[in-house]
Amino acid sequence: MKWYNGIHCSQEYVLSNNLYTIFNLSTLTFNLSKFPFNLLLLLPVLLPAQQRYEFSHPQMGTVFRLVFYTEKDSVSAQAIAARIFARVDTLNAIFSDYLPESELSRLSDQAGIGKKVPVSKELWEILRLSKSYAKASDGAFDPTIGALTRLWRRARNLKEPPDLARIVAALETVDYRSIRLYKNRRVQLKLKGTRLDLGGIAQGYAADECLALLRATGISSALADAGGDIVLGHAPPGNKGWAIERPLTDSTTETLFLANCGITTSGATYRYFEAANGMRYSHIIDPRTGWGITQPRLVTILAPNAITADAWATALSVRGTPKSKKIGFKIKIWVVEI
Ligand code: AMP
Ligand code: MG
Repeated sequence: MKWYNGIHCSQEYVLSNNLYTIFNLSTLTFNLSKFPFNLLLLLPVLLPAQQRYEFSHPQMGTVFRLVFYTEKDSVSAQAIAARIFARVDTLNAIFSDYLPESELSRLSDQAGIGKKVPVSKELWEILRLSKSYAKASDGAFDPTIGALTRLWRRARNLKEPPDLARIVAALETVDYRSIRLYKNRRVQLKLKGTRLDLGGIAQGYAADECLALLRATGISSALADAGGDIVLGHAPPGNKGWAIERPLTDSTTETLFLANCGITTSGATYRYFEAANGMRYSHIIDPRTGWGITQPRLVTILAPNAITADAWATALSVRGTPKSKKIGFKIKIWVVEI
C-alpha cells in the first residue's frame, strides 16, 4: 500500500509508477515596505493571481492527472480539463489493445493478409515513433509484442507462466520490422498473428498531448501525469521546478526539481505476479525470449517529453543498460538494480 500525493492507492498493477509532490508556493512573499507606492498599485496588474487546479480521470488502465496554474476561474479550468480528458478517451479508443473495436485491434486483425490498411493520423504517428524506438533499442522495446502480452496476462490470472510451446509460437509473431509504413498513412503488418500492443508508450503519448492542449489554451505552468508517465511544463509560479521523486535502491527517494521535460520510472517491481515456484514475472516482456522479465530493476528516464521517457523506460527495463550511450538527445538514465 502506498500513498500518492495524498491519495490512497492499493491498485498494485495499475497506478502510478512515480510519486510526485507538488510544492504549492502560490503566495509569493515580498517585502512590501520597500516598494514605491505607485508600483504597489500596479502589483495586482503585474501579478495576476494564479490559482492551482488539479483534476483526475481514470483511463488506459491508470489514472490521468492534470495540475496547472492559471488566472482563469474554476468553471473555465474544469471545462479545459474536461476537453483534455475527452481527448484522452479518444486516444484510448484508437490505441487500446483491450478493446476489440479499437483502431489498433482492427489493424491487428488484418495482420498477415497482405493488406495496406489506411490509419488515422494518431495511429500513424505512434506507430512511426514506436518503430523508431524499437530500432534504436535494438528490439528491446517492441510494439508487436501483443501475442506475448496476451499469454502473460492469462498467466498472471492463473499465477503460472505460459506453456513453452505457446511462448515459442507467439514469438514468431513478434518483430517490429514487420510493421510496414506506406505513404498516405497506410500500414501493413507482414506477419500472420501479430498483435500490436502500445502499452509501453501510449500513456507517454497521451501525457504529451495533455500538456500540448493545456499550452494551446495559454496555460504554461502545468503537469500531466498518465499514471507515472509524467510531462512537465513551466514550473509552478515562484518555484524553481516541480518536485518529482525518483526511487533509489534502498526504497528511499531522491527529489528532483524539474520543468519542461518528461520523466518515467518503469520496471519489474511495479507490476508482476508471483508464480508457485516463487519467481516474480513482470508485465514487461523480453521480446528475444518471450519471458516476463524477472530482474527486479527500476529504470527512471528523464527526457525532453513523456513519450521518449516512457518508451525508453520500458526498453531499458528489458535490457538494463543501453547498447549505446547515445540513445538520444538530452536523455538521462538511472538504473536501480534491487
Ligand atoms: P510500461 O509500464 O510503460 O513499461 O509498459 C509496459 C506495458 O508495455 C506492458 O503492460 C505491455 O502491454 C507492454 N510491453 C511489455 N513488454 C514490452 C516490450 N518489451 N516492448 C514494448 N511494450 C512492451
Ligand atoms: Mg513505457
